[in-house]
Amino acid sequence: MRIETLARLYQSAQLLAVALFPAFAIWYLQNFTPVPAPLFENHLFHEIAIAIATVIGIFVSYVSWRSYRESGEIFLRWLTMGFLAFTVIYAPHGLLTRTAHDNIWLFLLFGPVSRLVMLGCLVYGLVQYGKPAEDVAAVQARGFWRVALGLCCVVTAAVPVLAYSPIAASPWVRMPMESGAAILCLGAVAVMVVRRIASPLMRYYGVALLLFAQAAVAFILAKPWDHMWWLAHAIFATGFSVISWGVVSALLTTKSFASAFSQEQLMRALEEEKDLLDAANSALRAERQLAQTTLDALLEHVCVIDETGNILTTNQRWQDFLVANDGDHLLAGIGVNYLAVCDRVKGAMQEEAAAAAAGIRSVLHGSCDRFGMEYACDSPTEKRWFVMSVLRADAPSGARVVIAHQDISERKRAEDQLRHLASVDGLTGVANRRAFDTTLSQEWRRACRSRMPLSLLMVDVDHFKRFNDHYGHQAGDECLRAVAGALAGAVKRPGELVARYGGEEFSVILPSCGLDDARRLAEKMRAAVLALHITHAASETASEVTISVGVSCFALGDPAVEGVSCDVRPDGLIAFADSALYRAKASGRNRVIEQEAAVA
Ligand code: GH3
Ligand code: MG
Ligand code: MG
Repeated sequence: MRIETLARLYQSAQLLAVALFPAFAIWYLQNFTPVPAPLFENHLFHEIAIAIATVIGIFVSYVSWRSYRESGEIFLRWLTMGFLAFTVIYAPHGLLTRTAHDNIWLFLLFGPVSRLVMLGCLVYGLVQYGKPAEDVAAVQARGFWRVALGLCCVVTAAVPVLAYSPIAASPWVRMPMESGAAILCLGAVAVMVVRRIASPLMRYYGVALLLFAQAAVAFILAKPWDHMWWLAHAIFATGFSVISWGVVSALLTTKSFASAFSQEQLMRALEEEKDLLDAANSALRAERQLAQTTLDALLEHVCVIDETGNILTTNQRWQDFLVANDGDHLLAGIGVNYLAVCDRVKGAMQEEAAAAAAGIRSVLHGSCDRFGMEYACDSPTEKRWFVMSVLRADAPSGARVVIAHQDISERKRAEDQLRHLASVDGLTGVANRRAFDTTLSQEWRRACRSRMPLSLLMVDVDHFKRFNDHYGHQAGDECLRAVAGALAGAVKRPGELVARYGGEEFSVILPSCGLDDARRLAEKMRAAVLALHITHAASETASEVTISVGVSCFALGDPAVEGVSCDVRPDGLIAFADSALYRAKASGRNRVIEQEAAVA
């Protein structure tokens, strides 16, 4: 047999021994009290004792009712009912102490009646024990408590009637009540044993019933005011204390007699809870580890800040960056206030840092869920670009914000290169046709808005076919490169663009440039090409490579030009320059010719 089982058996035996101790006291008094025994007839003592019992009865009734109200346990309803009946019917037993000499039965009969009614309720409760919880409000609505209190009053009123009746002194009045109480108690204990009702509080209920049964026996053997009579009171009071201890325990724990736990059960439940907690903790640790590993595996620099902006955690990439760089970049270590860092970052980062701080604050305060921005910073060796992404995550301990920076320098450089390649002519290095078209459209719109003039030069290398045929394509390419260089060298102002229009044709966009200035610049270009001194032996008319230039100008603000409108597309400007170029060719080449009429 396991020691735990043995210990439990010992506990039960011990409880039973305590419960049956009054039997020994009854036997002792019965056999060793001298006859006639001295009486302890103290009215005041009796009155005080009953007054205390009444106060305790009210308190226990209330405690029992409170638990019943919360748990709806039917057993507790009948316990409440029993305590209430006992309190109401037993109180006159104290109040009428001093009438003992007039009519002893008026004084005495309240005791057995109150105990019998109480035990009846207690035992009836046992029959209901284990049933599902009931609807407390419905019971109250049925008027249960009003009826119960009314019955108590009726029984209380019936006692004096009985006391003044001729049968009051008959042993058939008091004895059946006392023996009935004892039988009820013993029967209930038997039911408990058979039904194996041994929940922690019910064990005390059983002990109380055994004590009440012995009290009834003692009352049967007693005479008013003798030792046995007082002992019977004491045994009953002990039983009442034991059951009230159970009622109070129910109130302080589960509000139920059936589901209150023993210390042993509580310890076991605690152990199980602790195991669950340990398992949950280790699962949490594993999750945290996984989350950190995930963060470390990311290519971004990631940190998490709390509501005040303090950095709680960072990933490995963030740490590595911190070790490698100590410049003005928007990264800082754990424990540092990130918002403060943003606020005080110096130099070129100032604007970006202020934007970052504002974005993070708006995410923190819930004005938006996420925020992102791109920024550049100058590291000691090169310029680098980053994209910053800020996301909010709500945790029980307050808002968290995850900040990720990704180094997009490579992508930026590749994009720049692509953009450059897409806009540059591969042979000559000046802008290509696509860049020319885009720029011309932009400048056209700008000229329309600002009413500033916009000029265009169309440049064509003279007799280039012959040059090619004579010197070969490679030399032709060299020549084109040199001419492009000479044209590009002639433009100085920002916004002016030299582009290869196609083949050996170039075009020059001259924003905010009137016709006269455009013509002057075209002449400058023609001179610059001449100054290259590229021999053109194949040419009939010249010994050096020359260019012809057609000039056109769109001047919305020119009062001399009427009827010019933005409705025409920039194609008109090209057509006018082209026709001027055609005339330059026709009139002998190596010259600059301007448009014949205003572009309209
Ligand atoms: P014009 O004075 O009337 O302009 O006579 P042209 O010979 O220059 O005019 P044409 O349009 O007949 O010839 C243009 C030549 O330019 C034809 C082609 O061989 C040459 N060409 C066009 N693109 C390239 C190029 O990328 N490289 C070289 N080497 N030659 C080119
Ligand atoms: Mg041509
Ligand atoms: Mg040509």
